Amino acid sequence: MVDMSADVLDGVDLVVVGAGLYGLTVAQQAAERARARVLVIDVRGHIGGNAYSSMDERTGAEIHRYGAHLFHTSNPRVWEYVNRFTSFTSYTHRVYTTHNGEVYPLPINLGTINQFFHAHYTPRQAKELIESQAGELAGSDP
Ligand SMILES: Cc1cc2nc3c(=O)[nH]c(=O)nc-3n(C[C@H](O)[C@H](O)[C@H](O)COP(=O)(O)OP(=O)(O)OC[C@H]3O[C@@H](n4cnc5c(N)ncnc54)[C@H](O)[C@@H]3O)c2cc1C
Repeated sequence: MVDMSADVLDGVDLVVVGAGLYGLTVAQQAAERARARVLVIDVRGHIGGNAYSSMDERTGAEIHRYGAHLFHTSNPRVWEYVNRFTSFTSYTHRVYTTHNGEVYPLPINLGTINQFFHAHYTPRQAKELIESQAGELAGSDP
């Protein structure tokens, strides 16, 4: 808890309430570009807002306290910027499903179809198969 009546505000140009990604970016940019003296406050005991994560000491696993967060960008400037302040755990999204005790990769691709039908269809053959089977559902609400 910060006592805002005390001289904690002396010399402060800007007070940012909330140390989430938004508040932190505003604070950092004000400090760097405008040489402002910035005070950041947050009701939580950590920075990062809802994107906060910490390492579990016992297992070494990264725990996302408020729900899993993934960072996506195709913008090199954004990627360079965020890497000034933290490092990232690389992440690969893989989804599987099971049917009759067998595991299949999703989304469905040629491998899934060949695995399901125990076949070795070419892409063209698989397309024809799907078209022929889709016809069974024509006019219905599958
Ligand atoms: C479960 C979940 C999953 C998500 N997954 C993704 C994802 O994968 N990728 C992605 O890009 N985004 C994701 N998001 C969205 C992402 O969390 C938000 O876009 C981002 O955190 C917003 O940042 P922010 O700074 O605006 O707000 P917040 O992160 O909410 O930060 C606001 C901060 O302000 C503080 N605060 C609020 N009121 C006060 C007050 N009165 N006094 C003091 N402090 C205060 C709060 O404690 C908090 O720390 C997810 C969100 C959730 C909830």
